[in-house]
Amino acid sequence: MDEQSGVTPCGRKGITRREAINYCLVAAAGVAGGGATAWMVRNAMRPNPGDVFPGDAPTGEQWRLWQQRGWVKEGYHYLKLGNNVQCKICPNNCILAPGDRSHCRNKINKDGILYTLAYGNPCAFHLDPVEKKPLFHFLPGSTSFSIATAGCVFRCLNCQNWEISQKTPEETKDAAGPAFRLRPPVPASLSYQDMTRLSLFPEDVVAVAESLRAPSIAYTYSDPVAYYEYTYDTCKLAREKKLKNILVTCGSIDERALRDIGQYVDAAHVDLKGFDEQTYWKLNAGSLRAILENLKTLGSMEHIWFEVINLIIPTYTDNAEMIKRMCGWLADNLGPDRPLHFSRFQPLYKLAHLPPTPVETLVRARDIARAAGLRYVYIGNVRGLPDAETTFCPNCRRAIVERDIFAVTRMDIAGGRCKHCQTRIAGVWG
Ligand code: SF4
Repeated sequence: MDEQSGVTPCGRKGITRREAINYCLVAAAGVAGGGATAWMVRNAMRPNPGDVFPGDAPTGEQWRLWQQRGWVKEGYHYLKLGNNVQCKICPNNCILAPGDRSHCRNKINKDGILYTLAYGNPCAFHLDPVEKKPLFHFLPGSTSFSIATAGCVFRCLNCQNWEISQKTPEETKDAAGPAFRLRPPVPASLSYQDMTRLSLFPEDVVAVAESLRAPSIAYTYSDPVAYYEYTYDTCKLAREKKLKNILVTCGSIDERALRDIGQYVDAAHVDLKGFDEQTYWKLNAGSLRAILENLKTLGSMEHIWFEVINLIIPTYTDNAEMIKRMCGWLADNLGPDRPLHFSRFQPLYKLAHLPPTPVETLVRARDIARAAGLRYVYIGNVRGLPDAETTFCPNCRRAIVERDIFAVTRMDIAGGRCKHCQTRIAGVWG
């Protein structure tokens, strides 16, 4: 787009920059060949994940209050394109003209500078068992101080946290009321009003985690990629204080941003939401290819322990053939020791009309994963299914970790080895 006039290089007015890029690609593919043309046309017709909210950035009093609170920070990985900016945190790569708001709702272009509005202003925090992330092979039985802001890089039809993930920071926080900065000791309870005006800056997050004796901080609930700068600064400080950092993420992040924050990350839980590009688009407005690349990148960063979760949604991600291809890919690219959690779908948000995942579908998926060679396969969100969340030693086959909901009820691992046969069990056991 011509930055001054708003006219695209294709000469069309009134379309977004990304539509223009798609339009040009379709035209180019038309020259290149029929198959490519069909692919491009299909993609050009899809809703665009990088669509932004033109002219939606806060102005005037709202902007002044947000700055006064300290809830604004210049973005980390972005390009200046004249007065426009391009965020390089996630594959959406939003391009924002002055006054625009990003796809994740957290970033704005203010006078040619990219700012995040999701800094030091969590809309949720909680002390969770690490098993709730879920991470089963990382400091089992410990707690993790968990935080989230508004906003997300995805648009999942089944989002269980859509009330924060599909909101702007301004919709979850109130900068106009009296300021309230949370520091230890943490009050026994907080009102909704307290939460809306509360600030929790990186040093406060670390201090609260320490005061609660949590050995780790989890960046979760919505997606830490969408509040990257807040996550980054907190991770860095937490590392200095010898606390662990856990990312709970959809895994949609640009490689450079991942490697940059990855130096401070100790563990991750990555949602692999399916194994088909079109399904990923329909269900999440995301790209499977980007997630697979990031899983491989995480696999190459040996200091980061990570586990993969796959939610099986009837009619979307319950195809046995697709599950087989996914498990084969995981075994081939991440090895047999990477834990895989199958999770049961419950009807909600835009998929409230679908039934819960049948238990037999989950059991069949576990069989497929084990047949593909994966050694640690779990089933979550199902009560009463024997061994759904049990870790078995891959050598002697005995149950070595048993869990009940989020509690560890048996632990036969010592020094990272099976107590019965001394086989090393993949993970970080403390
Ligand atoms: S992190 Fe947000 S602003 Fe940056 S590219 Fe992704 S969706 Fe756009």
